[in-house]
Formats: sequence, C-alpha cells, structure tokens
Amino acid sequence: MTDVVVVGAGPAGTAATLALLAAGHEVILVDRSRFPRDKACGDGLTPSALGELERLGVDPAVFGGHRVDGLRLVHRGRSQEMPWPGRADEQVTGLVIPRLRFDAGLVEEARRRGARVLEGVAARPVWRSRRLAVEVAGEQYAPRFVVVADGASSPFGRAAGLARDRRSPLGMAIRAYHRSGRSSDRFLECRLGLTDEAGRTVPGYGWVFPLGDGTVNLGVISLTTAGRWRGVKTPPLLRRFVADVAVEWDLDPDPQERPRGGILPAALGIEPKVGPNWVVVGDAGGAVNPFTGEGIAAALLSGRLAAAAIDEAVRTDDPSRLGAFPAELESRLGDHYRVGRGFVSALRGPWVDAAAALVVRSAALSRWLFELTLGPPVRGGLGRVVYRALVGVARRRYGVTRTGIPPTAPS
Ligand SMILES: Cc1cc2nc3c(=O)[nH]c(=O)nc-3n(C[C@H](O)[C@H](O)[C@H](O)COP(=O)(O)OP(=O)(O)OC[C@H]3O[C@@H](n4cnc5c(N)ncnc54)[C@H](O)[C@@H]3O)c2cc1C
Repeated sequence: MTDVVVVGAGPAGTAATLALLAAGHEVILVDRSRFPRDKACGDGLTPSALGELERLGVDPAVFGGHRVDGLRLVHRGRSQEMPWPGRADEQVTGLVIPRLRFDAGLVEEARRRGARVLEGVAARPVWRSRRLAVEVAGEQYAPRFVVVADGASSPFGRAAGLARDRRSPLGMAIRAYHRSGRSSDRFLECRLGLTDEAGRTVPGYGWVFPLGDGTVNLGVISLTTAGRWRGVKTPPLLRRFVADVAVEWDLDPDPQERPRGGILPAALGIEPKVGPNWVVVGDAGGAVNPFTGEGIAAALLSGRLAAAAIDEAVRTDDPSRLGAFPAELESRLGDHYRVGRGFVSALRGPWVDAAAALVVRSAALSRWLFELTLGPPVRGGLGRVVYRALVGVARRRYGVTRTGIPPTAPS
C-alpha cells in the first residue's frame, strides 16, 4: 500500500510531497496537466513564501525569477515605497517568477527526491467505506492517506464532498503579460482606486509585478464577488487598468498572450479540512489570504503542515492525529484571516476611495496596512493593540472555526 497519494501538483501538493518525502514516506503525486503547465497568477512570492520554500529545502533561485525588495502602494498619482518588513540587518526579499517555470521546478524537485509523478491524468475520488481512495486512468489506488491539493476549482475535492461556506470571501482576478520598459523595477506595485465602467470603486486593486526579462505581469483583482460584485467582469477592468498604467510603465499595449483569470477562495472558507484518511490543502481548502488574494505562501504552509500531521498519524498508527492539521492552520492563520474577512466586507461605498487617499498620503498608515495584510503584527506597540481589537471584533462576528473534527464521509 502506498503511503500517500497527493492530488494536484501546484505549490500546495508539491510542498506536501516534498515534506512527506523528507520524512521518509512513499508518495504518488498526480496532476491532470503535464508540466510545465501555466496557472493564472500574479507570479508574486512574498518573503513568507520564500521562507516556506527554504523550510522545504528548495532554493527558488535555481528556477530563475526576479528579486523584489518590497511594495509600492499607488493611489491617484501619490505613492509610498515600502521595503519588506524585517530587521535592518536581515536581507528580506520577494520574488516574481512565472508559474510556468516555478511549478514545473517544484514538480521536478519532487520527482528528483523520489516521488512517483503521474502527469496528464485526472484523479477521481472513490469511497471505500469511509476511506478515500483515488482512481487515476482506470486504476485504483488505496493509499493510507490522500492529500487533496487540486486548486481553486477543486473538481476532485468537490466530488469528494468539500463545500465552500458561501459567506466566506471569494475573489476573482485576471492577469496578462506585457512588454515594459520598466521590467527591472525592484518593487511590486499595487494600485488602489480601481473603478468599473460605472465609476464605482472595485473592492480590490490592480498590480504590476516586474519580471526582469523585459516583461511585467499585471492584473486586477476584486477581493469579493459578493453582492453587487457577484458578476464582476474582470476583462474590461483589466483593459481599463492597462490603459491607466501604460505610460508610467512604458507598456506595449498588446499582451504577450491571451489574459487568464481565476477565482480565489479565501479565509479558509472550505470545509471540511480533514477526514478519516485525508487532508485538504491550498486553494482547495480556501487558503488564500483575504486581504490580498495571495495564496502561494499559504499553499506551501498548508502542504507542509498537512505532511507533518500525516507523518505523526503514520508514526503513531493513529489516524485521529490528522486533527492536528486544521488546528495548526487555525492557530496560524485563523485570526488573521477573520480580520481579513471583515476588511473585505468593509470595502464598499464611496468612503473606500477616500480612505485609500488618506492611507497613501501617510507613510505610517501605508506601512501599517502593508504589514497588516501580510500577517499578524510581529512588533508590539499601537499596531498590535489595534490588531488585537480587530481580532476580538472578527471573532465575535464570524465565530471561531471548529477544527480537528473528522467528518463522516458521504456514503
Ligand atoms: C489571477 C490570479 C493572480 C494571483 N496572483 C497571486 C500572486 O501574485 N501571489 C500569490 O501568492 N498568489 C496569487 N494567486 C493565488 C495563487 O495562484 C493560488 O493561491 C495558488 O496557485 C494555490 O496553489 P494550489 O497548489 O493550492 O493550487 P494550484 O496552483 O491551482 O494547483 C492545483 C493543481 O491541481 C491540479 N488538478 C486539478 N484537478 C485535478 C484532478 N482531478 N486530478 C489531478 N490534478 C488535478 C491542477 O492541474 C493544478 O496543477 C493568484 C490567483 C489568480 C487567479
């Protein structure tokens, strides 16, 4: 019996695979695509994502990519440039790397370290009593554990009974690659004040992420698709955005290829996260950061934490140890994501644009917002006090997720 089958070879699935291999387990990694495969993404890796790769023993520099030193926040002609948070003596960096190359590099690393990789074949869930097994190309695999890492659309997860809490935020984003005279810029740029054709402020932002190879990745995101933003059409938003930034970024107005978009299930809003012999990681579990739409760091983190719980369950021969996974995820991301959920739900009405103008005029407010979106404050002081108060409000409003309760599988 194979120890683990991992369904989906994006960052979440490969992180789980690499961590399981490091702990000495046999892993089959399945993906319906053949690598290199593209994935709609801004291609931006924050320092947290790079930290996760380091923990997995992966040096992303070997995949190439362009180093970025922080964030430039822009709103109507004003801007604030902010280096990544960290100690003055640390060299904290981010990276912009096309997913085509990044994901293929991770899969290759998994293969090199001993994973059996099945590419170009979709997996299907099969129930054997309450245990999950996997069918691939007509063959059934009944491993001890299954890691569900099949991304935002999650066909495998949904067929296995996973469902999104409709009240949790679901973002929508689209990106394009354009040639640019500023491709070597050292900052990720996020531009607030995105508006639709009717002039309404979209609850999101536009981005320009330099790739250092003569091109930039640019795109737009609506952090919510609730209420009036239910049917938000991102292609026209993208066209307006490209026109807005074309001169400043010295853009070739024609994209390198057809723009691609996708959904972003955020705030851990997909349940359950764990079953009798399976765990759900990455976008399939709604791991996207609701503040920003960033999902690679949480995909890597959740993959690594899931592997640790599986390792513990194997070593103790006690499958209930899988319950440690959602509990750990909750303790690391739960409060921050609940505050993010509140933040997204507050992004409506004309005051949003006025607030953005205020933030971008103040270096201190910009930095506070920047750090808040990345994670819980690491330093003490007023920022932490405000954050704790927001956590209190968000806990009362959304409740604390129930975790670690293995559900009953569908019969
Ligand atoms: C436009 C856009 C821009 C974004 N920008 C950023 C950004 O700049 N930075 C950031 O951190 N995040 C960004 N995100 C979010 C980020 O892309 C995701 O959070 C991240 O890819 C999640 O990784 P994952 O491994 O969970 O899923 P994925 O990367 O989607 O991987 C899932 C894999 O599962 C496979 N699969 C699906 N079904 C099956 C099946 N039945 N059998 C086998 N395999 C299957 C798929 O082929 C795929 O390879 C963006 C998202 C979008 C849509």
